[in-house]
Amino acid sequence: MSLIPKSHPRAKSLLIREKLVLGFEQGLVAREGLLAHGRGEAFDYLLGEKTNKAAKQAIKAAAAQILLAKLPIISINGNIAALCPKEIINLAKISGAKVEVNLFYANEKRKKNIIKILKKNGANEILGINPNFSTTLSGLDSARRIVDKNGIFAADVVIVPLEDGDRTMALRKAGKIVITFDLNPLSRTSQTANITIIDNVIRAVELLSITCKKLSKNNKNTLEKIVKNFNNKKNLSDNIIEIRNNLTRRSRFA
Ligand code: ATP
Ligand code: MG
Repeated sequence: MSLIPKSHPRAKSLLIREKLVLGFEQGLVAREGLLAHGRGEAFDYLLGEKTNKAAKQAIKAAAAQILLAKLPIISINGNIAALCPKEIINLAKISGAKVEVNLFYANEKRKKNIIKILKKNGANEILGINPNFSTTLSGLDSARRIVDKNGIFAADVVIVPLEDGDRTMALRKAGKIVITFDLNPLSRTSQTANITIIDNVIRAVELLSITCKKLSKNNKNTLEKIVKNFNNKKNLSDNIIEIRNNLTRRSRFA
């Protein structure tokens, strides 16, 4: 039972935080994952804790890009497993993407816990489990470069929510189209990915599923146009302006 009263002005944010703490206690989230969440919370605050117009545009481009992909893979880490396991499996089912467990801080026990929670939430096939299929991405040091031969290694489009900048760069160098969810428009991941959704993954992932469903009725040409018309740098710039405008508004005196 949550100890956070619904009337608390920051109840939503605190409930998300509670999910992560619970995930930590259940052995899903790494200690460092709690800190990464804290950084995300700060940017969410500055963005107004809502899905803004720029995020909606990025979600539309991401949906089109996933539908165009031959082999789209969603990379799952501890924070995602704790925050939105059901919603991420739903996205995989709707979009035809596969899921791969891929941890920044490798730990077999934690990996097993994550697999369990994904299965409990309806995952059929989970990649990144069988050591016989593991291979390495170049440009990264040992533990962090392990990926599944049939998953991220072979993918043309990789969806990496809450990813580290080094890994995003390695994925780009390996020729992958990278889609990310990241609340910080200044992070290396945001700046390196092809499509960056600047929003809390807990809000944006459902909207991405709905958009995939809607756009699946469109032909290849239309989807390609949506991707072509999207400019990630411009979108990041719009998000930075949004933060600036929020700060300007809040800084007004009297
Ligand atoms: P980078 O390595 O890309 O420069 P970083 O080192 O600042 O980023 P990391 O800890 O590597 O940060 O990555 C975690 C990222 O995930 C952060 O940018 C943080 O803003 C973001 N993040 C945390 N929680 C959420 C969330 N719930 N939804 C979306 N993004 C989040
Ligand atoms: Mg980092």
